[in-house]
Amino acid sequence: MQKITIAIDGYSSCGKSTLAKALAHKLNYNYIDTGAMYRAVTVYALRNGIINADKTINIEKLISALNDIEVTFVFNPETHISDTFLNNENVEREIRNMEVSSIVSKISSIKEVREKMVALQRKMGKSKGVILDGRDIGTNVFPKAELKLFMTADNDVRANRRLNEYKSKGQYFTLEEVKQSLYQRDQEDINRKENPLMKAEDAIVLDNSDISREEQLEFVLKLIADLQFISRQEQSQH
Ligand code: C5P
Repeated sequence: MQKITIAIDGYSSCGKSTLAKALAHKLNYNYIDTGAMYRAVTVYALRNGIINADKTINIEKLISALNDIEVTFVFNPETHISDTFLNNENVEREIRNMEVSSIVSKISSIKEVREKMVALQRKMGKSKGVILDGRDIGTNVFPKAELKLFMTADNDVRANRRLNEYKSKGQYFTLEEVKQSLYQRDQEDINRKENPLMKAEDAIVLDNSDISREEQLEFVLKLIADLQFISRQEQSQH
């Protein structure tokens, strides 16, 4: 079957990465978690005195440090997915903590940070057979992706999912705290100037509040099969 590029965008904690990983596994595609890249830059900023005590960012310092920040993915044979590395150090666990989550949207709104990450994403995803999830994949990184999905889910469903994820890692917050953090991040992502979170005109909306992971996967696999059928038909007519 002909390989395609799949772009998955949407709000925080809508299950984008769960779907992307399941698709990558099923189709034998490469998965690129673009949010992890912005999170790794955030870890660098936190560790290098780039975040001030009042949580504002020393933007000039970060921009001048960008050449010293290398983000890569390394396949983990135990989990069968790739771990995120910052300057050759595995930061997969650290990038998921609440402190990083609360600052990452401010870091990702900086033009120079985005330019560097988007260039890297385009390079990593240039061969077909790739799935990227993020906020601006279908609108900016790969606007010609053959399949674009825009994911959404009910606020309580999303917050509960994230709360359980934190719990499973031994991090405890209230539902309200998690809800507030998701809300703030979405607002920052929607309202920023550079490549804000937005549905691409040709994206298919997927609301997974009331469907299971399996149903969601089946739905998308069917979309891909339909796309490939249409493309074969078009080719045979030419
Ligand atoms: O997907 P995840 O929640 O890990 O993304 C973390 C943050 O990274 C988002 O809230 C957003 O600020 C930023 N991001 C982005 N563009 C992307 C992916 C993520 O701005 N393509």
